[in-house]
Amino acid sequence: MTRSIHLSAPDVGPLEESYVIAALRSGWVAPAGPDLEAFEQAIAERAGTGGAVAVSSGTAALHLALLGVGVEAGDVVIVPTLTFVATANAVRYTGARPVFVDCDPQTGNVDVGLLAELIRRLRSRGERIGAVVPVDMFGSCVDYTALLPVCADAGIPVVEDAAEALGASHRGRAAGSFGQVGILSFNGNKIMTTSGGGMLVSDDAALLARARHLSTQAREPARHYEHRETGYNYRLSNLLAALGRAQLVRLDEMIARRRQLRERYAKLFAPVPGVQLIGGEDGESNCWLTGIAVEPARCGWHAADLGAHLADGDIETRPVWKPMHLQPVYAGAECLLTGAAERLFAEGLVLPSGSALGEPQVTRVLRAIDEFLATRPGAPTR
Ligand SMILES: *Cc1c(COP(=O)(O)O)cnc(C)c1O
Repeated sequence: MTRSIHLSAPDVGPLEESYVIAALRSGWVAPAGPDLEAFEQAIAERAGTGGAVAVSSGTAALHLALLGVGVEAGDVVIVPTLTFVATANAVRYTGARPVFVDCDPQTGNVDVGLLAELIRRLRSRGERIGAVVPVDMFGSCVDYTALLPVCADAGIPVVEDAAEALGASHRGRAAGSFGQVGILSFNGNKIMTTSGGGMLVSDDAALLARARHLSTQAREPARHYEHRETGYNYRLSNLLAALGRAQLVRLDEMIARRRQLRERYAKLFAPVPGVQLIGGEDGESNCWLTGIAVEPARCGWHAADLGAHLADGDIETRPVWKPMHLQPVYAGAECLLTGAAERLFAEGLVLPSGSALGEPQVTRVLRAIDEFLATRPGAPTR
């Protein structure tokens, strides 16, 4: 019997087990403790920022980051249409309204020229733009060399959604460090996991202090539970921080495995006309997920055909994110589009990319793809 191969399963083992047991035995079974502080410090170091605040999810981190840069009810916030829904939902939590912008057709990251145009249009109508939230898609950083001056010239704060990009970089600078604040996710399917968790990373000490305050019900330093504003229960638990510390020890090794896997896919698809890997071309991606973009007119098959063939072999694939402007929950939202995100959704396919995949499983995936390609009309003879 063959076992299913998943897209991006958690990669945990004896090291994680030992860290969690040690935390449990230490008695710090609470959203406070030495592992939590050490985890924040280690992540800040990795992201190259002055500090960090650990919270219960990447979504919670986004919510607090948006509040931290001053987003208010009635603002608009610019979000890429090609992202996971959390990016847009966090905007709504603040009472602001997301406006969606299309992506670059190769990387899936925000189209910076189009972003500049959208800023001009919104401004000319007198909208207050509370923030721009670039997303480092599948672990490849946005072109911040182009994006940051556009936002700085317009005086708009940047919140970097680096949920997928821990360990990636742009021109040597770490993902998470580009905006006024960045956020990371440690959800079960991400590059490293705390089973569920997130982090704000920033050089802005006041912003981080405020996020920490809001994440613990905005409790004032008084014995009698004093509260002056509405807070949230968003703090990460010490036990999960211990898991995170162990994962961080193994992060480079896990990234290396995902990179190798991506290179093998790249080699496999190189001779196939009309198939391109999404993003990652800068060599600085953490290769969280490897996806392909298919041009059926050139290769004679659809991304969904390959997906169906792999599903027959119990191998999981997924379409690229369904764009936000096509989601029922965001029906009617304002957007500026080129069609690039819709094309990636229609003809993109995300392949198994997890660092826990063993050699026999990787071989099984590559063989199944090979089999599929060999049966296509016009396939090169191998
Ligand atoms: C995973 C993800 C999030 C949300 O993180 P959670 O920890 O699942 O809340 C936000 N943005 C993007 C782009 C993501 O991929």
